[in-house]
Amino acid sequence: MGSVNADLVVSVDRRPAPGETVLGSDLATYPGGKGANQAVAAARLGARTAILGRIGDDGHGDLLRAALSEAGVDLGHLLVTPGPSGVALITLDPDGDNSIIVSPGANARLAPSDVDAELLSAAVVSFQLEIPLPTVEAAARAADAGGARVVLNLSPARAVPDDLLALCDPLVVNEHEAAYLLGAGDEPEAMATALLARGPRSVVITLGAEGALTADATGVTAVPSPKVEAVDTTGAGDAFTAALCLRLARGDTLADAARYAVRVGAAAVRKPGAQSSYPATDEDLPV
Ligand code: ADP
Repeated sequence: MGSVNADLVVSVDRRPAPGETVLGSDLATYPGGKGANQAVAAARLGARTAILGRIGDDGHGDLLRAALSEAGVDLGHLLVTPGPSGVALITLDPDGDNSIIVSPGANARLAPSDVDAELLSAAVVSFQLEIPLPTVEAAARAADAGGARVVLNLSPARAVPDDLLALCDPLVVNEHEAAYLLGAGDEPEAMATALLARGPRSVVITLGAEGALTADATGVTAVPSPKVEAVDTTGAGDAFTAALCLRLARGDTLADAARYAVRVGAAAVRKPGAQSSYPATDEDLPV
């Protein structure tokens, strides 16, 4: 459950100052949004996946629907709002750094009343924070009450109520999001332990090229990532989370699920783009 955005990308030599105009490259339009990225990654790897989200009735909506459909995602809960779809306006500079403005569009209209009871029949429901927080809270409570496992990616980072954290199994954060929640950065092991003490049932911290750490009642486990040549890390965290959810749904332990997820995350950094970089079979995964 989450955001569905069109990523509109232009490369520039430098960003314009206020009042200034610069010329950029041709516009590239890619399907994105954390919710859609996770759904596409999971479906490509063979999970039976549905997305609960909102798109607009514009051309971007058509593109976004087609990308989800092509990956095999069930669109029965993809709702349409009159008006614009969510977009991310992305400028890329010659150093590869991006600046992003997200216009949530239809994502902002995903309401607690949109939470469908069929959600509750899923083994795992994955959430991120690009849709309204009250909607995440209502859906996570409903999913948990219905017996689904709740996974929350705290991205983009923001404060969330303790009763939402308490449902997370796991809470998935990168190092920046972990430091944000804790109020300060620390060694990853220490942050994992401190985050677990905040109330989630389990925690995963992703560590980029270093892989990930899991923390639950059995302790903290380091899960190294395969070494790959990173071309573009966009959407790597979404690929990781999707793969984690897939293996948790199939009954893996958290650490075993993370051992698979780092391979999927590493595969996603070898190619440009988010959804365009996601592997289609386990044979494509680095070891
Ligand atoms: P986010 O993209 O959310 O900031 P990370 O950068 O921690 O998250 O990356 C998520 C996962 O993607 C990592 O746990 C790892 O599996 C994989 N990954 C990211 N960057 C690299 C890299 N340079 N080499 C190998 N794997 C990577």
